[in-house]
Amino acid sequence: MTTQAPLSNENLAFDPDALRQKYQLERDRRLRPDGAEQYLEMSGQWAAYAESDPYADTIIERAPITDEVNVVIIGGGFSGLLASARMMEAGIDGFHIVEAGSDFGGTWYWNRYPGAQCDIESYCYLPLLEELNYMPKEKYSFGTEIFEHSKRIGRHYGLYERTWFQTRVRSLDWDDTLKRWHISTNRGDDIRARFVVMALGTASRPKLPGIPGIDEFQGHSFHTSRWDYAYTGGDSDGGMTNLSDKRVAIIGTGATAIQCVPRVAQCAKHLYVFQRTPSSVDLRGNKPTDPDWWASLKDQPGWQKARRDNFGAVLAGMPVEEDLVADGWTDVSRRLRSMIFSTEKQLTPQQMAELAEIADFEKMEEIRHRVASTVTDDEVAECLKPYYRQFCKRPTFNDEFLPCFNQDNVTLVDVSETRGVERINATGICTGGKQYDVDCIIYASGFEITTRFERRIGFAINGRDGVSLYDHWRDGLKTLHGFSTRGFPNWFYIGNSQNAFSANMTHMFDSQAEHIAYIIAETQRRGGTTVEPSPEGEDAWVKHFTGMQMGNQDFQIACTPGYYNNEGAPMGSIAGGAYLPGINHFNNVLEDWRAEGSMDGLEIDRP
Ligand code: NDP
Repeated sequence: MTTQAPLSNENLAFDPDALRQKYQLERDRRLRPDGAEQYLEMSGQWAAYAESDPYADTIIERAPITDEVNVVIIGGGFSGLLASARMMEAGIDGFHIVEAGSDFGGTWYWNRYPGAQCDIESYCYLPLLEELNYMPKEKYSFGTEIFEHSKRIGRHYGLYERTWFQTRVRSLDWDDTLKRWHISTNRGDDIRARFVVMALGTASRPKLPGIPGIDEFQGHSFHTSRWDYAYTGGDSDGGMTNLSDKRVAIIGTGATAIQCVPRVAQCAKHLYVFQRTPSSVDLRGNKPTDPDWWASLKDQPGWQKARRDNFGAVLAGMPVEEDLVADGWTDVSRRLRSMIFSTEKQLTPQQMAELAEIADFEKMEEIRHRVASTVTDDEVAECLKPYYRQFCKRPTFNDEFLPCFNQDNVTLVDVSETRGVERINATGICTGGKQYDVDCIIYASGFEITTRFERRIGFAINGRDGVSLYDHWRDGLKTLHGFSTRGFPNWFYIGNSQNAFSANMTHMFDSQAEHIAYIIAETQRRGGTTVEPSPEGEDAWVKHFTGMQMGNQDFQIACTPGYYNNEGAPMGSIAGGAYLPGINHFNNVLEDWRAEGSMDGLEIDRP
């Protein structure tokens, strides 16, 4: 075996060693011993933050349901809607949806904060565009259009008649005698179902920062996913006139805050933005959809799948003829490819990794330069510069966030030194030796995305012999393909653990929905009563999956803390991470599995 010298760092406009050191320093000073436990779960005294529905026009009055159905889909967001559509295509009938909100939309039902927009190109993100013949208005859709599209899907597939809205599942219990799931809800329902599909989405349970004194605040407060327009006035386009005499604090500067800060800055008397880690804020560059281009797609049936696959391939670093989406998500991959093509050398994996790091440094230098050239106060600009690799945290894309910090009514409060806001008290926020009195605190503090499953899911799930799912997974996740687990028959989970994660969530939801619909249809066709992973099938998948994760640990450990790396403790999530070769590769695994036809790794129990 020959070793090759690392590629030359000559001609670089930055010093890679200095950047590496700076990244580590910035990471270390944000690491907290309490990791993911620093966040407050929205249960008990905080439940109202999550369970209230400020968008409901009326409260639906209905008697408790005692019913038996074939399939219950929990969740009416895009994953539940896609599960419904794919189930219909697979000929599965007798399914119902249980949805906590008053309409379809899931994340887009709840997240109506001003400026809400999808960072993923609409032609890839909005599901079922070909089936519904819908042309998105712009390359990046705003929340209202996406919410409308959810309702359009509901109408198109006749799902309104099959859905119990304003209904929250409280527990799932498997009855091994009846071979049915008992589903109990906050409405006193007792629903029995042969199959259950958990389509909860990945960001359905908001979380609060566990800041000392958070319960002492006497002013108004809410989480971004329950925006209180009754308090602020206006709507998701802005116009929040009630804030004109208010001092407002926003805690957090993730993807949500980047979008809502500019709208609040337009309306508030004063806005304090409390930032622990700056986001990478790249160009948005939105534009209307070209109707001629759109019309030309009619001649290319299957174009949406092809476009999603193309996006997935570019993100995974696979060769493609053309980067169809060509935006800030795919930029680093494009740079890396052009570096690879510009060298004649046969590259070793180590050299490839070095080049990827250089491409990343280059990209992030541009992001930092964007801050410096937009924000006039040098000290504020320095605070807003992110020092970590682009995909350590969720990148963001916005053209209005950075200029806000040139406004006199906006103050950036850097809380990195204290690893977060230090204290909340009756009149506001006390941190870094200063008191900030405010009328309203808005928590842009994110969701239970990679925290413990009981926190993410929020209700009890008891399988055969009453075993809790959370005990079953206490020492590590055990699944076949991430969707099902032994001891929990006829139970399926659409999510991002032990299967492919994609920045384009609907791509991942759709392929999982299709696969689950296939398994349910096949189980029924083969006369099965129950289906669940065999011990061997599950063991083989866990082994295959965790084996792939080891190489990724170094990258994750070097990252600044966040939910992507379990707040800096990635070893804890090794069995629950993403399928590293990428979503297309994972989908090929599923397609091959279906084509092989033996339901390998699953046990079907026949009466
Ligand atoms: P995030 O988890 O990304 O951000 C939470 C923010 O709160 C972070 O800036 C965090 O800082 C900060 N924070 C937490 N605790 C404290 C504390 N004690 N003191 C000060 N700051 C604190 O949540 P978001 O709601 O912004 O985004 C969640 C996800 O939702 C995104 O990652 C994305 O997947 C999705 N999303 C998608 C959009 C789309 O385009 N499709 C748009 C918006 C959101 P720190 O970083 O230091 O932890």
